[in-house]
Amino acid sequence: MSDTVINVTMDELEGRNETAKFRDGQREIKPIAERLIEGSERLGGLEGLQIKYLFAKDEMKSKGKRVLGKACKFPERDRLLHPFRFCIILDERFWQDFPNKREPLLLHELLHCGVNDEGDPVLVPHDLEEFGEVVRRYGAWANDVVLFDRQLELFASEQRKAAP
Ligand SMILES: [Zn+2]
Repeated sequence: MSDTVINVTMDELEGRNETAKFRDGQREIKPIAERLIEGSERLGGLEGLQIKYLFAKDEMKSKGKRVLGKACKFPERDRLLHPFRFCIILDERFWQDFPNKREPLLLHELLHCGVNDEGDPVLVPHDLEEFGEVVRRYGAWANDVVLFDRQLELFASEQRKAAP
């Protein structure tokens, strides 16, 4: 049965030439991720859990908008094939062009990776454009958050105007 799964996966990858769009990022990303996991209470559940890191050579899109990173959970059946539970894919050009934004981008994607009470990996959604922990530690670092931050600023200046 596991042979079938392997064959299907390989065929799909080769058929669409998916592998050419990605580059292994384990060596560059994992050490930074481990440091971030150590420094975050919320990410404690990820310690000892294997995450695969990839770079995307092309721009990634989600609902028509450019995204700088993606976090995905491997299906349970993949446990027969490899030890990884999550995959984090980062925009390679952004990573190269903005070294000071690597940590907030990576922390953002790591915060999407969670573990439920049974110890199973789950994807964690965010309801604002950003996780509070990323903003607390790095401030406004990406366009969406900058917008959000600007709204807060506007709100603050309205308040000032209203105040005597
Ligand atoms: Zn996100």
